[in-house]
Amino acid sequence: MSPARERGDADPNEPGASLPSKVPTQEHLDAAHKLTENVAPHARAEADRAIAQAIANGDPLPPSGFSSGKMPKGHSKASAVHMHNPYGSDSRITLNESHGARRMANDKAEMMGTKWWAQGNPMAHELGHEAHWRADPDGWRGMGRTEHQRTTPGEREHIARHVSGYAATDGHEFVAETIGGIRSGKVYDSHVMNIFHRVTNGKFKGKY
Ligand SMILES: [Zn+2]
Repeated sequence: MSPARERGDADPNEPGASLPSKVPTQEHLDAAHKLTENVAPHARAEADRAIAQAIANGDPLPPSGFSSGKMPKGHSKASAVHMHNPYGSDSRITLNESHGARRMANDKAEMMGTKWWAQGNPMAHELGHEAHWRADPDGWRGMGRTEHQRTTPGEREHIARHVSGYAATDGHEFVAETIGGIRSGKVYDSHVMNIFHRVTNGKFKGKY
């Protein structure tokens, strides 16, 4: 049961509210496992879970796939990174190999206690960036990393409270965190989803 549902602060039947994710089957997990041969064994189960969830929901996967290794310069502390060719169609997701899966889960759990993360699986978050990039490439390119003109301070306060602290830091992270949260079973209120559909230019309408 997700914290959002436990709080009872969202009605899935409300217009604009997000739909719960489909439950991945063993078939989805097997398909995901074939895609994570380049992911370190200690991080593979967590990667498989998130990818199986994406497959179950028909979400896009990065063409260059999944791996684990060192993070690019400036991202050494990140749990994972979504890398893409902004004017091409290629992308890949790399998990930080120096973070053991258990360590990632522990760190995330700790940080989730402070409501910094919407959910605890970094792969699910990065798949949120992939879904955003695929759904709205022009909007994705036009969205600066630190600009906030798409949300008001009041909206960011709502995002920080109902999605996550990280989601309130910029537009890209808001989109990835919201998708990651939905995929982990959270149901957001219509205020969150209306902001989500606005900043993604309606490209996810009918899906979330
Ligand atoms: Zn991110």
